[in-house]
Amino acid sequence: MTTEHVSDGVRLLIVGPPGAGKGTQAGVIAKTYGIPAISTGDIFRQNIAEGTELGKKVDAIVSSGGYVPDTLTNEIVADRLQQDDARDGFLLDGYPRTEEQVAELDRILAASGNTLDAVVQLTADRDEVVKRLLLRAEQQGRSDDTEDVIRHRQDVYHEQTEPVIAAYRERGVVVSIDGLGAIDEVSDRVLSALAQHGLAASA
Ligand code: ADP
Repeated sequence: MTTEHVSDGVRLLIVGPPGAGKGTQAGVIAKTYGIPAISTGDIFRQNIAEGTELGKKVDAIVSSGGYVPDTLTNEIVADRLQQDDARDGFLLDGYPRTEEQVAELDRILAASGNTLDAVVQLTADRDEVVKRLLLRAEQQGRSDDTEDVIRHRQDVYHEQTEPVIAAYRERGVVVSIDGLGAIDEVSDRVLSALAQHGLAASA
């Protein structure tokens, strides 16, 4: 098997409910494939922490667990994907989460003549993700990790983002991974599933 064709980078998404471990696995995948991990949640939190105009606009929305409006989110991702480090591949974490965002990403990819290589779906049941998020609340103090807000985020995910995954599934690009277990075990599952999908990382 040759891996030559993947050395010029891969374009991936990672999706899953809040608390499934997307950020952690995104870091591992990005390092393995030599691509930037781009998290819309991180971009928003950084802007909130720095008190930028964008941060001021989204602070209340993010803290309450709702979704930032599509026009704003789409603009931020379009800008970020134009930066040099994303030209030869990227992993998007937490985007797209709505059908309008899917349409925007399709447009961005078509404009650059690229396609998505895979959508990594991390699964985890509700009790487990709530447990993890409550633990993260103690460790990191994220404003959206209180029990009420966590529940709201799960509901929003169910209503708005599960249909997005279903749409990608119909395109045959979804690689589904059980997100339960130790971090290393989950990473091994993710990387071997991507290799099976034809995306072996070149050494
Ligand atoms: P999690 O998936 O664990 O909830 P994220 O860091 O991915 O955490 O997202 C945190 C928050 O940032 C979301 O609840 C939402 O308010 C906002 N956000 C992140 N990505 C998007 C997006 N693609 N569209 C709209 N809002 C988003």
